[in-house]
Amino acid sequence: MAEEHPAERVFHGSPVSRGIAFGPVHVSARGFSAPDVYEISADGVAHEKERLEAAFDLTRKQLIQLKDRIDQVAGGDEGLVFEAHGMLLDDPGLQKKIEQAIEERRQNAEFCFYAVMQTVLEAMRRIVDPYLRERTVDIEDVSQRVLRNFQANQDAILPDHQHLLAAYDLAPSDTASMDRSNLLGFVTEAGSVNSHTAILARALGIPAIVGLGDVVLEITTLAPAILDGYSGKFIVYPSEETSAYYRSLAHRKRKKREALEELRDQESTTLDGRHITLSANIEFTHELDLVHENRAEGVGLFRTEFFLLETDRVPSEEDQTATYSELARRTSPHLAIIRTLDSGGDKLSAEPLTAPEPNPFLGWRGIRVSLDRPANFKKQLRSILRASAHGKVGMMFPFISGVTEIRQCQALVKECMAELTEDGTAFDTELQVGAMIEIPSAVLVADEIAKEVDFFSIGTNDLIQYTLAVDRINNRVAKLYRASHPSVIRMIKMTTDAAKRAGIWTGVCGEMAADLSLTPLLVGLGVDELSVGPRELAGVRKALLSLDFGECQKIAADALKMATSAEVYKLSHDAAKAAYPDLVEEIA
Ligand code: PEP
Ligand code: MG
Repeated sequence: MAEEHPAERVFHGSPVSRGIAFGPVHVSARGFSAPDVYEISADGVAHEKERLEAAFDLTRKQLIQLKDRIDQVAGGDEGLVFEAHGMLLDDPGLQKKIEQAIEERRQNAEFCFYAVMQTVLEAMRRIVDPYLRERTVDIEDVSQRVLRNFQANQDAILPDHQHLLAAYDLAPSDTASMDRSNLLGFVTEAGSVNSHTAILARALGIPAIVGLGDVVLEITTLAPAILDGYSGKFIVYPSEETSAYYRSLAHRKRKKREALEELRDQESTTLDGRHITLSANIEFTHELDLVHENRAEGVGLFRTEFFLLETDRVPSEEDQTATYSELARRTSPHLAIIRTLDSGGDKLSAEPLTAPEPNPFLGWRGIRVSLDRPANFKKQLRSILRASAHGKVGMMFPFISGVTEIRQCQALVKECMAELTEDGTAFDTELQVGAMIEIPSAVLVADEIAKEVDFFSIGTNDLIQYTLAVDRINNRVAKLYRASHPSVIRMIKMTTDAAKRAGIWTGVCGEMAADLSLTPLLVGLGVDELSVGPRELAGVRKALLSLDFGECQKIAADALKMATSAEVYKLSHDAAKAAYPDLVEEIA
């Protein structure tokens, strides 16, 4: 660590999860984390080079053993990948670079190895050729192995002290498995507001910023920092003045939240008496405590993929039934809507793929996977049905593009119901079945889909991405991702109108439902339910209590005549600001 305090540096990114966190940084390169760094004397250089050689030797041996084992089991070309990994270690240029770093930096061998590999990897990630870019995974893999071989006990990915994590990117599974007790917040270079990583950060209440530029290469582990999850500023080596400002800001934010919580027992009804059901989006049953604390009127979206795919094996029907029944019992007397597996896209794949998906968001995702794997799908459907005996349960299907899929789903539900009846297993025969509306084609045939289901739940995260052709996780096009785009609000209106004609209800469970600047618009467009992360409930409740439905309808009618997202946003934002100024200023 440096002796004197370097100058304050401020990085700017997109805030994705509110909160202010103070702590030492832990830098994690994609796939492996920074080893401890320490200085060595001039006499120690030769010893460090020997340690480097020894770690390389051990790694080479392991790779040969791995190749042999795979050759025996598979007998094909599969083992060659390990041979290719070994070739990296035989590259004399690379070894020389690391040795030079040891001589010049006078730092331990593993840290010099790590620093050189980080530069190599970051350069590779920026390569345009997709084949070469994908090779970074192999290099990460072998680098991780070398680092482990420097020290037997070095496989802990995260440190055991409280820290702010800085990483190139985090997969939703990384975020889901984070140890909340030591993680004060995280920042990433890549990522965007609507990625599942961001959604999980909000669910877990971890302050987070994404899209921070070259932060990983620019800062070092253990640097003191402040993460401002409101404005998207990440301040490394903050001055005393900055620290004092943030301590006072954190205090004021806490007071504001406490004031909001005082409203939690009030019904989410507008000033002129329109009740909007306010429910919660969750990924894990342990979030139910927070759901209760914030008095949600049910669970509007239980994303099952994190529970189903967190281990190597899909949980058995019994395990699934136990989890869904716990959800049903603890949400009772309110409705708990369980969404069937939505794998693929930026989430984990349901099974290893023989070839990577060329276009994951347009590929084998959501209901397509379930319908292609009817045995697994039925296992989930039976579990949901069995849970319905323990509370009020609904189920819904993700990524529906048209009527055929929903009919196929319903046929399988009927089949499962018949099987359970034959076995004498209890379930709710009146259980509500819904379709997620998140693909434009589903909006266009919403009248037809409405005949087949009891409700719609609009997944705006995907609906915006597919309507505007803007990848929800690609930061480069993030400014084009607009919930207030006239096409999106027309899509929402078409959906609520189709639902009304069919006599069914419509909810919104995408992140747009928690955007308080757009609450007037959504209410005016006629949605019946808003489902948001547990920590967003208090703000949305306050917004609903402050709005007038008649006014909101006028806003929506005017917005539907507008040409640009900026005009629509301003209209709704101004109404929000007039109704609940404190909240909108905080979020806008
Ligand atoms: C959505 O698309 O809006 C949604 C709620 O589903 P997910 O974010 O899990 O894709
Ligand atoms: Mg979706």
